[in-house]
Formats: sequence, structure tokens, C-alpha cells
Amino acid sequence: MKYLVIIPDGIGDRPTEALGGKTPLEVARHPHMDAIAQQGITGWAHTIPSGFAPGSDVGCMSVFGYDPRKHHTGRAPLEAAAQGIILKDADVAFRCNTLTVSDGVMIDHSADHITTEESSQLIQAVNEKLASKEMRFYPGVSYRHILVAQGEAFSQTRCTPPHDILDRPIASFLPSGPGSELLKKLMQESVELLKDHSVNKKRMAAGKRPANMLWFWGQGKATNLPPFQKTYGLKAACISAVDIVRGIGVLAGFQILKVPGITGYFDTNYKGKAEYALKALNEGFDLVLIHVESTDEAGHMGDAKKKIQAIEDVDRLIVGPVLQQLQQEGGPFSILIVCDHPTSTALKTHIAKPVPFALYTQGGPRDEVAAFHESAIANSTVQFTEGFELMGYFLQRTR
Ligand SMILES: [Zn+2]
Repeated sequence: MKYLVIIPDGIGDRPTEALGGKTPLEVARHPHMDAIAQQGITGWAHTIPSGFAPGSDVGCMSVFGYDPRKHHTGRAPLEAAAQGIILKDADVAFRCNTLTVSDGVMIDHSADHITTEESSQLIQAVNEKLASKEMRFYPGVSYRHILVAQGEAFSQTRCTPPHDILDRPIASFLPSGPGSELLKKLMQESVELLKDHSVNKKRMAAGKRPANMLWFWGQGKATNLPPFQKTYGLKAACISAVDIVRGIGVLAGFQILKVPGITGYFDTNYKGKAEYALKALNEGFDLVLIHVESTDEAGHMGDAKKKIQAIEDVDRLIVGPVLQQLQQEGGPFSILIVCDHPTSTALKTHIAKPVPFALYTQGGPRDEVAAFHESAIANSTVQFTEGFELMGYFLQRTR
């Protein structure tokens, strides 16, 4: 059996006024996702256990089949794993955004999706001027970097995800509690250091937002996940442009497939993701997980049209081609579409609500649902209150 899991990040949503009371998934045309829903089983999964913030770190951990209550220590340790950063016992990893603040207001958590090349230069400057033996910076993809800080106290610092405070004054959202003074000092120093950096001068001259501040959040100590192959008996691989998903993959023993041209954004190489996944399934992997970030990014921008476009791109360039190929090969195969959390386009952020899923197994059971969107699935009776159990159900294995 070939297993494929497709995660269009944050694809779930709420009905929005901008779409006449419908959700982006309801308005978008996605015949291939609908076919999976129509011929398979649909339902809801609570990927965010109560008490957890609805982030991709928590939601994706559930989707990968791991209970966040047992395994989640923070978001940054997962991203650090993706970069091959080994955390020692006393280390606390923070997510470090290079972002845009103007007149004390959080303008853009991504600094206009600064390129990896540009932000790497900024992090290099930060390492030269602000790092110490206890504080080390590691450049990541686009605006997403890692700070490794030594000291237990940092795991207790209260931090705020920057994408949750867009267009709001940052003053009351700066780090607080244990370790916060040092972090706030670093953030302040980063403003001074970055404002005149040549990368930012060029960006501003080109009409782009500068990455003029570092912002720390999502921290945690090292975590480990039991190997997926040991738990489920399957050799697995994963495709994602973002460190958080690759990090969960690394920790769970997935092979991380490198696909050229994947960006975590609207210009990503959707087709390449499908091609590489199919190739891996023909080369000895039992399961491939494809994660797509663009659907979530559109939600954060509050742009329903872009989200619809991203959903349609995923359907046309990933779901369609893989379905066609797997069917042509004659099977057997099983495919699951699910996301990590809904992203509300109206609120521009994640919400802690159950996510819709659809799964199809050749010759497997089917329900009455004929389309893949929230209202079509509303009455589906399959519900996973523990979202991490969906993986076992999909693989028809119990742990
Ligand atoms: Zn998001």
C-alpha cells in the first residue's frame, strides 16, 4: 500500500463576509479534493489539544500522529531539529523572526517575505555584533531563524507570536517574566543594528519592507519523538519548505526530500512536490507527507482571494496529478487530506477549532459526503477528539 498525506497548512477557515458567508474552501474549485471526499471518508480532527496555542508546531505534531501533550515542548526546538541544531540540556531554542516594526507597531511578521539570502546576511551581522557564548543565532528560511539561549529560565519567558499582533503596538507584547530583560535588550539592540544595514537600505530603495527588528517567541527545550517506522511500521518521507514541519519529520525519523524551487509561498513548486512524492513512493517509501504553506500565508494576509487561489493550485498541481498517477499504476493506495489548524482569513491568524479531513483508500469505506469543505462535512460523524489518532486510523493501525 502506498500512503500519501497532503497538508495544505491552515486550509480550514470560518465563513467570511467577504465571501458572502462562505469559507475559502467552500468557494474554491477543487474537484480532486472533492473526489477524495466523495469516494472516501470525511470528518473532523481536533489537532490542537485544549490549553495549547493553535500553531503549526502543535497541529502538525498531531497530524504526524504524535500527541502534543506528551511530546510538545515548544515550536522552536522542532525548527532547530530541521536545521540540524543539536540542543544541549541547558539550551532553550527560540524562534527568531526578522520582521518589520514601524513607529512601535508590528507591521509585518515576515518583512515582506524577505529572501533567505538577504536575511542570512542580517543574521550574520547579528551573530557578529550581538551573539555571545550563551546566545547564538542560526539563519533559517526567509524570515524564520533560531536563537539558542543557554539557561533554564528562558523556558519560562512569556513571548507572543508576532503574526498574532499585526497592526498593533508591540509595547505590551514584548517578552516578560524570567529571562525577559536580556531578550528585550537584544531586541532593542537589533533595531539599532538592522536599521542601517545595506540589505535593508536596498529593500527600502526597492519599495520593500525592511527587516528592522528581531522578535523572539515559541521557545522550548529539546524534545524527542518515537520513530515513526517503529510506531507504525512504515518507511516515511516528508516534503515541506518550512523548518517546523521538516523538524518534526527529522525527529520522527522521516527522510526529508529536497524538492527544488519550494518556497513556502505562492510561487512554490507545487508540481515538483507531487513529482518527488510519487517518485519516493516508487523507490521504497511506504508513506510520503506533503506539506504546503501558501494556504496559511494567504490567511495571515487576510486575503480570501489568494487563499482560494492557493487551494485551487494545491488541487490542480498536487492532488490531481498524484491521484491520476496512483490510479494509473493500479494501486493499492491511500490518500489523506488534512491540515494542522484552521487559519481565519477574517482574523488573519490561526484558530483552535477542529480541522476537516478527507481520506480515500482504494476499495475502502465511504460516507455520504460529496465535497471537501466545512459545510459539506459539517454533519460527518467521524470525529477525532484526539487529533493525533487520525494517523493510526488512516493507516488502519492502532498503537
Ligand atoms: Zn500560520
